[in-house]
Amino acid sequence: MPQPASSVRPGLWRRIPLWQKILAGLILGTLVGSLMGEQASIFKPLGDIFISAIKMLIVPLVFSTLVVGIGAMRDPQKMGRIGARTIALYLITTAFAIAIGLFASWLFQPGVGLELSFDKASADAQEAPSLVEILVGLVPQNPVDALATGNILQIIVFAIGLGISLTLIGEKGEPVLKVFESFADAMVKLTSLVMAIAPFGVFGLIANVAGSYGAEVLLPLVKVIGVVYLACVVHVLVVYSGLLALLGRLNPMRYLKGILDALVVAYSSASSSGTLPVSLRCATKNLGISEGVAGFVLPVGATINMDGTAIYQGVVAVFIAQLIGVDLSLADYGMIIVTGTLASIGTAGVPGAGLIMLSIVMAQIGLPLEALAVVAGIDRILDMARTSVNVAGDLMVTTLVGKSEGELDEDVYNATSKS
Ligand code: ASP
Repeated sequence: MPQPASSVRPGLWRRIPLWQKILAGLILGTLVGSLMGEQASIFKPLGDIFISAIKMLIVPLVFSTLVVGIGAMRDPQKMGRIGARTIALYLITTAFAIAIGLFASWLFQPGVGLELSFDKASADAQEAPSLVEILVGLVPQNPVDALATGNILQIIVFAIGLGISLTLIGEKGEPVLKVFESFADAMVKLTSLVMAIAPFGVFGLIANVAGSYGAEVLLPLVKVIGVVYLACVVHVLVVYSGLLALLGRLNPMRYLKGILDALVVAYSSASSSGTLPVSLRCATKNLGISEGVAGFVLPVGATINMDGTAIYQGVVAVFIAQLIGVDLSLADYGMIIVTGTLASIGTAGVPGAGLIMLSIVMAQIGLPLEALAVVAGIDRILDMARTSVNVAGDLMVTTLVGKSEGELDEDVYNATSKS
Protein backbone atom coordinates (compact mmCIF):
# COMPACT_ATOMS: atom_id res chain seq x y z
CA MET A 1 0.00 0.00 0.00
CA PRO A 2 1.38 3.43 -0.88
CA GLN A 3 2.34 5.50 2.17
CA PRO A 4 0.94 9.02 2.58
CA ALA A 5 3.58 11.55 1.51
CA SER A 6 3.81 13.17 4.96
CA SER A 7 4.97 9.92 6.63
CA VAL A 8 7.48 9.12 3.89
CA ARG A 9 9.36 12.42 3.65
CA PRO A 10 10.84 12.79 7.15
CA GLY A 11 12.02 9.18 7.09
CA LEU A 12 13.75 9.68 3.79
CA TRP A 13 15.50 12.83 4.98
CA ARG A 14 16.70 11.07 8.09
CA ARG A 15 17.97 8.11 6.14
CA ILE A 16 20.37 10.24 4.09
CA PRO A 17 23.72 10.47 5.94
CA LEU A 18 24.49 13.94 7.26
CA TRP A 19 27.72 14.30 5.32
CA GLN A 20 25.85 13.73 2.06
CA LYS A 21 23.32 16.38 3.00
CA ILE A 22 26.10 18.83 3.85
CA LEU A 23 27.83 18.07 0.56
CA ALA A 24 24.53 18.60 -1.23
CA GLY A 25 24.15 21.93 0.59
CA LEU A 26 27.58 22.92 -0.63
CA ILE A 27 26.93 21.96 -4.26
CA LEU A 28 23.44 23.44 -4.31
CA GLY A 29 24.63 26.61 -2.58
CA THR A 30 27.40 26.97 -5.13
CA LEU A 31 24.97 26.56 -8.01
CA VAL A 32 22.37 28.89 -6.58
CA GLY A 33 25.03 31.46 -5.65
CA SER A 34 26.61 31.31 -9.10
CA LEU A 35 23.22 31.75 -10.78
CA MET A 36 21.87 34.48 -8.51
CA GLY A 37 25.05 36.48 -8.05
CA GLU A 38 24.88 39.23 -5.43
CA GLN A 39 21.20 38.48 -4.81
CA ALA A 40 22.18 35.18 -3.17
CA SER A 41 22.97 37.22 -0.07
CA ILE A 42 19.32 36.70 0.94
CA PHE A 43 20.43 33.21 2.06
CA LYS A 44 23.18 34.55 4.30
CA PRO A 45 21.02 34.59 7.48
CA LEU A 46 20.81 30.78 7.24
CA GLY A 47 24.58 30.67 7.42
CA ASP A 48 24.70 33.25 10.20
CA ILE A 49 22.35 31.16 12.35
CA PHE A 50 24.57 28.12 11.82
CA ILE A 51 27.74 30.03 12.72
CA SER A 52 26.09 31.41 15.86
CA ALA A 53 24.94 27.93 16.89
CA ILE A 54 28.50 26.66 16.46
CA LYS A 55 29.85 29.49 18.59
CA MET A 56 27.19 28.74 21.21
CA LEU A 57 28.56 25.20 21.64
CA ILE A 58 32.22 25.91 22.09
CA VAL A 59 32.47 26.98 25.75
CA PRO A 60 30.16 24.39 27.38
CA LEU A 61 31.31 21.56 25.10
CA VAL A 62 35.02 22.09 25.70
CA PHE A 63 34.63 22.65 29.40
CA SER A 64 32.51 19.60 30.12
CA THR A 65 34.31 17.11 27.85
CA LEU A 66 37.68 18.08 29.27
CA VAL A 67 36.65 17.82 32.92
CA VAL A 68 35.18 14.40 32.16
CA GLY A 69 38.27 13.29 30.22
CA ILE A 70 40.64 14.26 33.02
CA GLY A 71 38.22 12.89 35.59
CA ALA A 72 38.44 9.48 33.90
CA MET A 73 41.68 8.98 35.84
CA ARG A 74 39.78 7.95 38.93
CA ASP A 75 42.47 6.44 41.21
CA PRO A 76 45.18 9.11 41.42
CA GLN A 77 47.93 6.99 42.98
CA LYS A 78 47.66 4.09 40.57
CA MET A 79 47.14 6.34 37.60
CA GLY A 80 49.77 8.96 38.41
CA ARG A 81 52.66 7.50 36.46
CA ILE A 82 50.59 6.10 33.61
CA GLY A 83 48.69 9.38 33.43
CA ALA A 84 51.82 11.49 33.19
CA ARG A 85 53.26 9.25 30.47
CA THR A 86 49.99 9.16 28.57
CA ILE A 87 49.51 12.92 28.63
CA ALA A 88 53.14 13.57 27.66
CA LEU A 89 52.92 11.21 24.68
CA TYR A 90 49.55 12.61 23.62
CA LEU A 91 50.90 16.17 23.73
CA ILE A 92 54.13 15.35 21.89
CA THR A 93 52.38 13.49 19.06
CA THR A 94 49.81 16.27 18.73
CA ALA A 95 52.50 18.94 18.46
CA PHE A 96 54.19 16.82 15.75
CA ALA A 97 50.85 16.49 13.98
CA ILE A 98 50.10 20.18 13.85
CA ALA A 99 53.66 20.95 12.74
CA ILE A 100 53.32 18.43 9.89
CA GLY A 101 50.00 20.04 8.91
CA LEU A 102 51.54 23.51 8.90
CA PHE A 103 54.55 22.33 6.94
CA ALA A 104 52.38 20.56 4.34
CA SER A 105 50.24 23.67 3.87
CA TRP A 106 53.30 25.87 3.60
CA LEU A 107 54.88 23.47 1.09
CA PHE A 108 51.88 22.84 -1.17
CA GLN A 109 50.18 26.24 -0.77
CA PRO A 110 46.64 24.91 -1.33
CA GLY A 111 45.02 28.32 -0.91
CA VAL A 112 47.33 30.37 -3.12
CA GLY A 113 46.02 31.61 -6.44
CA LEU A 114 42.61 32.77 -5.36
CA GLU A 115 41.97 35.97 -3.45
CA LEU A 116 38.92 36.22 -1.24
CA SER A 117 38.38 39.43 0.65
CA PHE A 118 36.50 38.60 3.81
CA ASP A 119 36.80 41.26 6.44
CA LYS A 120 40.41 40.77 7.38
CA ALA A 121 40.97 44.11 9.02
CA SER A 122 41.14 42.47 12.41
CA ALA A 123 43.88 40.15 11.16
CA ASP A 124 46.05 42.97 9.96
CA ALA A 125 45.48 45.13 13.00
CA GLN A 126 46.34 42.46 15.57
CA GLU A 127 49.66 42.73 17.29
CA ALA A 128 51.30 39.36 17.93
CA PRO A 129 51.75 38.65 21.64
CA SER A 130 55.10 37.30 22.87
CA LEU A 131 55.46 33.69 23.99
CA VAL A 132 55.73 34.79 27.63
CA GLU A 133 52.54 36.80 27.26
CA ILE A 134 50.79 33.78 25.76
CA LEU A 135 51.94 31.55 28.64
CA VAL A 136 50.97 34.06 31.35
CA GLY A 137 47.63 34.62 29.63
CA LEU A 138 46.84 30.90 29.79
CA VAL A 139 46.03 31.10 33.50
CA PRO A 140 42.67 32.73 34.19
CA GLN A 141 42.42 35.21 37.06
CA ASN A 142 38.70 34.57 37.10
CA PRO A 143 37.39 31.35 35.52
CA VAL A 144 33.83 32.67 35.40
CA ASP A 145 35.06 35.62 33.40
CA ALA A 146 36.95 33.25 31.09
CA LEU A 147 33.77 31.24 30.56
CA ALA A 148 31.65 34.34 30.02
CA THR A 149 34.01 35.92 27.53
CA GLY A 150 34.80 32.61 25.82
CA ASN A 151 38.55 32.70 26.48
CA ILE A 152 39.05 29.13 25.38
CA LEU A 153 42.69 28.67 26.38
CA GLN A 154 41.96 29.82 29.92
CA ILE A 155 38.89 27.61 30.02
CA ILE A 156 40.99 24.59 29.05
CA VAL A 157 43.54 25.34 31.79
CA PHE A 158 40.78 25.69 34.39
CA ALA A 159 39.01 22.54 33.19
CA ILE A 160 42.23 20.51 33.46
CA GLY A 161 42.81 21.88 36.99
CA LEU A 162 39.25 21.11 38.01
CA GLY A 163 39.37 17.61 36.49
CA ILE A 164 42.60 16.80 38.34
CA SER A 165 41.26 18.18 41.63
CA LEU A 166 38.02 16.21 41.34
CA THR A 167 40.10 13.07 40.87
CA LEU A 168 42.36 13.91 43.82
CA ILE A 169 39.46 14.28 46.29
CA GLY A 170 38.37 10.73 45.46
CA GLU A 171 34.83 9.75 46.34
CA LYS A 172 33.86 13.30 47.21
CA GLY A 173 34.47 14.25 43.59
CA GLU A 174 32.19 11.56 42.18
CA PRO A 175 28.88 13.49 42.31
CA VAL A 176 30.35 16.48 40.46
CA LEU A 177 32.02 14.21 37.91
CA LYS A 178 28.69 12.49 37.33
CA VAL A 179 27.04 15.88 36.74
CA PHE A 180 29.75 16.78 34.23
CA GLU A 181 29.41 13.40 32.53
CA SER A 182 25.72 13.94 32.06
CA PHE A 183 26.26 17.55 30.96
CA ALA A 184 28.96 16.50 28.49
CA ASP A 185 26.62 13.88 27.01
CA ALA A 186 23.96 16.55 26.60
CA MET A 187 26.46 18.85 24.89
CA VAL A 188 27.52 16.11 22.50
CA LYS A 189 23.83 15.59 21.71
CA LEU A 190 23.39 19.31 21.18
CA THR A 191 26.35 19.20 18.80
CA SER A 192 24.51 16.57 16.74
CA LEU A 193 21.41 18.75 16.73
CA VAL A 194 23.38 21.76 15.53
CA MET A 195 25.09 19.61 12.90
CA ALA A 196 21.62 18.63 11.68
CA ILE A 197 21.12 22.18 10.44
CA ALA A 198 24.59 22.23 8.87
CA PRO A 199 23.31 21.45 5.34
CA PHE A 200 21.16 24.60 5.42
CA GLY A 201 23.83 26.67 7.09
CA VAL A 202 26.42 25.58 4.56
CA PHE A 203 23.98 26.24 1.74
CA GLY A 204 23.38 29.78 3.00
CA LEU A 205 27.03 30.53 3.61
CA ILE A 206 28.31 29.11 0.35
CA ALA A 207 25.50 30.61 -1.76
CA ASN A 208 26.51 33.99 -0.40
CA VAL A 209 30.21 33.30 -1.04
CA ALA A 210 29.67 31.86 -4.53
CA GLY A 211 27.29 34.74 -5.32
CA SER A 212 30.04 37.20 -4.54
CA TYR A 213 33.07 35.33 -5.85
CA GLY A 214 31.86 32.70 -8.35
CA ALA A 215 32.08 28.88 -8.28
CA GLU A 216 35.83 28.80 -8.77
CA VAL A 217 36.00 29.37 -5.04
CA LEU A 218 35.65 25.59 -4.67
CA LEU A 219 38.59 24.62 -6.86
CA PRO A 220 41.30 24.99 -4.20
CA LEU A 221 39.34 22.53 -2.05
CA VAL A 222 40.52 19.56 -4.08
CA LYS A 223 44.04 20.59 -3.21
CA VAL A 224 43.30 21.07 0.49
CA ILE A 225 41.77 17.57 0.69
CA GLY A 226 44.92 16.13 -0.90
CA VAL A 227 47.17 18.02 1.52
CA VAL A 228 45.19 16.91 4.62
CA TYR A 229 45.19 13.26 3.49
CA LEU A 230 48.89 13.32 2.66
CA ALA A 231 49.79 14.89 6.00
CA CYS A 232 47.66 12.26 7.80
CA VAL A 233 49.40 9.38 6.03
CA VAL A 234 52.85 10.87 6.69
CA HIS A 235 52.02 11.36 10.37
CA VAL A 236 50.94 7.74 10.86
CA LEU A 237 53.73 6.20 8.79
CA VAL A 238 56.57 8.41 9.99
CA VAL A 239 55.74 9.65 13.51
CA TYR A 240 53.73 6.69 14.85
CA SER A 241 55.84 4.01 13.23
CA GLY A 242 59.02 5.84 14.24
CA LEU A 243 57.98 6.19 17.88
CA LEU A 244 56.89 2.55 18.09
CA ALA A 245 60.20 1.37 16.65
CA LEU A 246 62.43 3.80 18.56
CA LEU A 247 60.74 4.04 21.96
CA GLY A 248 58.89 0.73 22.06
CA ARG A 249 61.26 -1.46 19.99
CA LEU A 250 58.12 -2.84 18.35
CA ASN A 251 57.41 -3.70 14.72
CA PRO A 252 55.11 -0.91 13.40
CA MET A 253 53.63 -3.19 10.73
CA ARG A 254 52.10 -5.38 13.43
CA TYR A 255 50.54 -2.30 15.00
CA LEU A 256 49.06 -1.16 11.68
CA LYS A 257 47.63 -4.60 11.03
CA GLY A 258 46.23 -4.84 14.55
CA ILE A 259 44.36 -1.54 14.40
CA LEU A 260 42.76 -2.04 10.97
CA ASP A 261 39.25 -2.71 12.33
CA ALA A 262 39.33 0.46 14.38
CA LEU A 263 40.59 2.44 11.39
CA VAL A 264 37.74 1.26 9.18
CA VAL A 265 35.13 2.09 11.82
CA ALA A 266 36.75 5.47 12.51
CA TYR A 267 36.88 6.31 8.82
CA SER A 268 33.26 5.45 8.16
CA SER A 269 31.79 6.83 11.41
CA ALA A 270 33.98 9.94 11.77
CA SER A 271 33.73 9.55 15.54
CA SER A 272 36.59 8.47 17.76
CA SER A 273 34.24 8.16 20.75
CA GLY A 274 31.97 5.94 18.67
CA THR A 275 34.98 3.83 17.67
CA LEU A 276 36.10 3.34 21.31
CA PRO A 277 34.63 -0.16 21.76
CA VAL A 278 36.39 -1.34 18.57
CA SER A 279 39.64 0.38 19.64
CA LEU A 280 39.49 -1.39 23.01
CA ARG A 281 39.04 -4.72 21.28
CA CYS A 282 41.95 -4.07 18.91
CA ALA A 283 44.19 -3.03 21.81
CA THR A 284 43.48 -6.05 23.97
CA LYS A 285 42.88 -8.79 21.37
CA ASN A 286 45.22 -7.79 18.54
CA LEU A 287 47.97 -5.79 20.23
CA GLY A 288 48.09 -7.78 23.48
CA ILE A 289 47.71 -4.79 25.81
CA SER A 290 46.23 -5.36 29.27
CA GLU A 291 42.65 -4.28 29.88
CA GLY A 292 43.80 -2.02 32.72
CA VAL A 293 46.07 0.07 30.51
CA ALA A 294 43.77 0.04 27.46
CA GLY A 295 40.72 0.86 29.59
CA PHE A 296 42.38 3.98 30.93
CA VAL A 297 44.57 5.26 28.09
CA LEU A 298 42.03 4.80 25.27
CA PRO A 299 39.03 6.66 26.79
CA VAL A 300 41.30 9.56 27.80
CA GLY A 301 42.71 9.54 24.26
CA ALA A 302 39.27 9.48 22.67
CA THR A 303 38.52 12.64 24.65
CA ILE A 304 41.74 14.62 24.52
CA ASN A 305 44.07 13.16 21.87
CA MET A 306 43.17 14.34 18.37
CA ASP A 307 46.25 14.30 16.16
CA GLY A 308 44.22 14.14 12.95
CA THR A 309 42.20 17.14 14.09
CA ALA A 310 45.44 18.98 14.86
CA ILE A 311 46.80 18.22 11.38
CA TYR A 312 43.55 19.45 9.86
CA GLN A 313 43.59 22.64 11.91
CA GLY A 314 47.16 23.40 10.85
CA VAL A 315 46.45 22.78 7.16
CA VAL A 316 43.11 24.59 7.04
CA ALA A 317 44.16 27.65 9.08
CA VAL A 318 47.07 28.26 6.71
CA PHE A 319 44.87 27.42 3.71
CA ILE A 320 42.29 30.02 4.69
CA ALA A 321 44.97 32.62 5.37
CA GLN A 322 46.37 31.95 1.89
CA LEU A 323 42.91 32.08 0.40
CA ILE A 324 42.13 35.51 1.75
CA GLY A 325 45.64 36.82 1.26
CA VAL A 326 46.70 37.20 4.90
CA ASP A 327 50.43 36.81 5.46
CA LEU A 328 51.01 34.75 8.58
CA SER A 329 53.95 35.77 10.75
CA LEU A 330 56.17 33.37 12.68
CA ALA A 331 54.23 34.32 15.80
CA ASP A 332 51.00 33.36 14.00
CA TYR A 333 52.44 29.93 13.25
CA GLY A 334 53.46 29.60 16.91
CA MET A 335 49.95 30.65 17.89
CA ILE A 336 48.44 28.01 15.58
CA ILE A 337 50.62 25.33 17.20
CA VAL A 338 49.64 26.36 20.74
CA THR A 339 45.93 26.97 20.08
CA GLY A 340 45.67 24.05 17.66
CA THR A 341 47.16 21.65 20.20
CA LEU A 342 44.89 22.94 22.96
CA ALA A 343 41.84 23.13 20.68
CA SER A 344 42.39 19.55 19.54
CA ILE A 345 42.50 18.52 23.21
CA GLY A 346 39.13 20.18 23.68
CA THR A 347 37.61 18.58 20.58
CA ALA A 348 34.90 16.03 21.34
CA GLY A 349 35.24 12.70 19.54
CA VAL A 350 32.11 13.17 17.48
CA PRO A 351 31.59 13.97 13.79
CA GLY A 352 32.19 17.56 12.85
CA ALA A 353 33.56 18.66 16.23
CA GLY A 354 36.91 19.62 14.68
CA LEU A 355 35.21 22.12 12.41
CA ILE A 356 33.77 23.84 15.46
CA MET A 357 37.14 23.92 17.18
CA LEU A 358 38.81 25.27 14.07
CA SER A 359 36.95 28.51 14.70
CA ILE A 360 39.01 28.93 17.89
CA VAL A 361 42.29 28.71 16.00
CA MET A 362 41.00 31.06 13.33
CA ALA A 363 39.77 33.60 15.86
CA GLN A 364 43.13 33.52 17.65
CA ILE A 365 45.01 34.55 14.54
CA GLY A 366 42.31 36.98 13.45
CA LEU A 367 40.88 35.07 10.49
CA PRO A 368 37.20 35.72 9.70
CA LEU A 369 34.92 32.87 10.82
CA GLU A 370 32.79 33.27 7.68
CA ALA A 371 35.64 31.63 5.76
CA LEU A 372 34.73 28.39 7.58
CA ALA A 373 31.95 27.99 5.02
CA VAL A 374 34.54 27.32 2.34
CA VAL A 375 35.70 24.11 4.07
CA ALA A 376 32.45 23.18 5.83
CA GLY A 377 31.01 21.55 2.71
CA ILE A 378 33.88 19.11 2.40
CA ASP A 379 34.29 18.69 6.14
CA ARG A 380 33.08 15.10 6.20
CA ILE A 381 35.76 14.03 3.74
CA LEU A 382 38.40 15.66 5.95
CA ASP A 383 36.71 14.40 9.12
CA MET A 384 36.99 10.76 8.03
CA ALA A 385 40.74 11.08 7.58
CA ARG A 386 41.36 13.04 10.76
CA THR A 387 39.23 10.70 12.89
CA SER A 388 41.22 7.71 11.61
CA VAL A 389 44.43 9.43 12.68
CA ASN A 390 42.87 10.38 16.02
CA VAL A 391 42.08 6.73 16.69
CA ALA A 392 45.43 5.48 15.36
CA GLY A 393 47.15 7.94 17.71
CA ASP A 394 45.20 6.74 20.75
CA LEU A 395 46.15 3.16 19.94
CA MET A 396 49.81 4.02 19.33
CA VAL A 397 50.14 5.75 22.71
CA THR A 398 48.27 2.88 24.40
CA THR A 399 50.76 0.46 22.84
CA LEU A 400 53.76 2.46 24.07
CA VAL A 401 52.34 2.87 27.58
CA GLY A 402 51.44 -0.83 27.69
CA LYS A 403 54.96 -1.76 26.65
CA SER A 404 56.62 0.58 29.17
CA GLU A 405 54.43 -0.80 32.00
CA GLY A 406 55.22 -4.41 31.08
CA GLU A 407 51.52 -4.81 30.21
CA LEU A 408 51.92 -5.76 26.56
CA ASP A 409 51.99 -9.41 25.57
CA GLU A 410 54.53 -9.49 22.74
CA ASP A 411 53.43 -12.95 21.64
CA VAL A 412 49.98 -11.59 20.90
CA TYR A 413 51.42 -8.38 19.42
CA ASN A 414 53.67 -10.26 17.02
CA ALA A 415 51.18 -12.96 16.08
CA THR A 416 50.69 -12.97 12.30
CA SER A 417 46.94 -13.55 12.31
CA LYS A 418 44.85 -10.95 14.08
CA SER A 419 41.31 -11.65 15.21
N1 ASP B 1 35.35 13.60 14.28
C1 ASP B 1 36.56 13.66 15.02
C2 ASP B 1 36.65 12.53 15.99
O1 ASP B 1 35.66 12.00 16.41
C3 ASP B 1 36.73 14.96 15.74
C4 ASP B 1 36.84 16.04 14.72
O2 ASP B 1 35.81 16.46 14.17
O3 ASP B 1 37.95 16.49 14.46
O4 ASP B 1 37.73 12.14 16.36
